Amino acid sequence: MHVPDRCDYLKLRNVTKTYPGQQIPAVLDLSFSLEYGEILALLGPSGCGKTTTLRLIAGFEHHKAGQICLAGKTVSSPDYAIPPEKRNVGIVFQDYALFPHLNVWQNVRFSFNSRKRKQKYDSTIQEILTLVGLYDLRARYPHELSGGQQQRLALARALAPRPKVLLLDEPFSNLDADLREQMRKEVKNILRATETTTVFVTHDQEEAFAFADKVGVLQNGKLEQFDTPENIYHTPTTRFIADFVGEADFIPGKIVQPGVVETDLGLFPSYCHIADGEEVEVMIRPDDVAIRPQVEETNGTIIQRIFRGSINSYVVKLDRGPILHSDQPSTLLYDSGTRVHVRVEVEHVVVFPQTKRESDRSQAYTPDVDVSLTGARKVV
Ligand code: ATP
Repeated sequence: MHVPDRCDYLKLRNVTKTYPGQQIPAVLDLSFSLEYGEILALLGPSGCGKTTTLRLIAGFEHHKAGQICLAGKTVSSPDYAIPPEKRNVGIVFQDYALFPHLNVWQNVRFSFNSRKRKQKYDSTIQEILTLVGLYDLRARYPHELSGGQQQRLALARALAPRPKVLLLDEPFSNLDADLREQMRKEVKNILRATETTTVFVTHDQEEAFAFADKVGVLQNGKLEQFDTPENIYHTPTTRFIADFVGEADFIPGKIVQPGVVETDLGLFPSYCHIADGEEVEVMIRPDDVAIRPQVEETNGTIIQRIFRGSINSYVVKLDRGPILHSDQPSTLLYDSGTRVHVRVEVEHVVVFPQTKRESDRSQAYTPDVDVSLTGARKVV
């Protein structure tokens, strides 16, 4: 297949969509681009604009501002739109939308809207059904398949016409936890094997991290951050993302010199442009908090243990006030009331201005500042 340009294979520029009769845009000034074969997870709370973004890419909705380009060509702008059936976009809906009266083979066959070159389609169908492990079940009907098999069929049907981009709307939400995990791996392998540029929608941060090369976090129709899963987790740019993605405690701090924040747990290097003397909130992830029970030099008390299977989540009250969570192996058992030494083990911390939640969208830090970590005390 000819690939025009691996960079910017799918590109949205300043796309805004307001539904008829609505005052507030469902999607506001949305811009991002994906490389050929990349997988993007759109993550965010209910109503933030995830499905609208998919529908705009598919061509089911039109936008009054901005531009969407696919494989080097504009597919929509305010005065132009290629219809959905001509965009070559594959879609897997939440409920799979399989045809109950067609068997596995026929369901996939249906995705080709032309009867020409049937022989060629047959070999493609055979190839894709083999890839998703359903070739031997090709005569079965959807009700004769398990949930995972139904999902693989929906995927095969969407992939068979070799779409330029595949859109998945909460693809794993109907599966139970074990199958969901297994299907995530299988589907990711299939997308890699077929080098399929993919955008998928999820509420589930774990799923977004496990599945995607890039994650876009939306809030109120705005893209708050577009980055690798690791950067989204470790260096969230807004307090909203820090809260929404994973668990975090926020302890008070003060910028005491450029790139250094003082907290109840000591001095930490921090990448930020916040002026000296400013009060800030310091994000602490539970996996960065070490606790050691001891008699002397303690600075906190365990007040609760929450068993979570593979980890124990300890709630620790620091002597100086704040509460922190600490994730520890499930085999490490401490009683409530145990005095501990608490230590935050990080190379730098992420800080946010002490502002009201409405202004969370402002940039909290800029990671382009080179702050030397040498000599910084991690913890008192
Ligand atoms: P969820 O996770 O609950 O599916 P979402 O992030 O996919 O939500 P969208 O379905 O894109 O959110 O909706 C974004 C906003 O647009 C919401 O406020 C929603 O109420 C509104 N909206 C969606 N579809 C329409 C429509 N057809 N007409 C009017 N408003 C709509």
